[in-house]
Amino acid sequence: MTDPTTPVALSIATSDSGAGAGIQADLKTFSARDVYGVTAFAALTAQNPNGVAAIEALSPAFLQSQLNQLQTYYEIGAAKTGMLFSAPLIKQTAKFIHETDIPVVVDPVMVATSGATLLQPDAIEIMKSELLPLATLVTPNLDEAGVLLGQRPKTKPDMMAAGRQLIETYGVSFLLKGGHLEGNELVDMLFLKDQKKTEPLIFTAQRNPNVNTHGSGCTLSAAIAAELAKGHSLPEAVGEAHAYLKAAIQNPLTIGETNFIRH
Ligand code: PLP
Repeated sequence: MTDPTTPVALSIATSDSGAGAGIQADLKTFSARDVYGVTAFAALTAQNPNGVAAIEALSPAFLQSQLNQLQTYYEIGAAKTGMLFSAPLIKQTAKFIHETDIPVVVDPVMVATSGATLLQPDAIEIMKSELLPLATLVTPNLDEAGVLLGQRPKTKPDMMAAGRQLIETYGVSFLLKGGHLEGNELVDMLFLKDQKKTEPLIFTAQRNPNVNTHGSGCTLSAAIAAELAKGHSLPEAVGEAHAYLKAAIQNPLTIGETNFIRH
């Protein structure tokens, strides 16, 4: 007897040569969540956890060529998008999502924790108008929510107001990540687009100051996509993914003298 077929999840994102974030983190996460990961590269970075030295964008045509090869062979259950870098690459990604109608988690990656710009400034408006409205879920951190709304939420009450405004503005569900809140209690809030009046679902974690969380956003959005590919509902998928990231931070991996997320 053969095993039941393994769900397939797709990452449309960028290479992190240090493999802590980007497509490498996504693939490790897909594996850890027992789904088969396939990938379409938008760009490459020369990077380690201290910073990004160079970025090389691929052509939109080459991105499309990768997507064509994947789509004609695999039954993709869900996708995530990560660092897409430029307006033409975002447009190409949006075209694919529009045509395929698979659930998609959009991680609106803009700036690395190290300070590197991962999204060209002229691409922000295209992301807002063409990509976000197609998402099943968008997962901004507080800085990204600030760019999407024009004002950065700073406190938990700010986050409540910002989440409502985000679903109102973009018409899709949002997981607003409070990892950059002050203090040790971290809160992520899930705002579902069809539950505008009810309270958001809240996911909490304790900050672990001994861990470098480079790649945590990539890991979370990949884990959500993996759970969606298995057929879970959005709240279930976010709950499972949040628990997975929490464990990955609480039980880190030491490389040299630094602790990193254990995918
Ligand atoms: N590099 C790539 C290719 C990424 O996709 C991302 C985040 O999405 C980063 C770097 C930034 O990672 P972090 O801000 O967690 O260090």
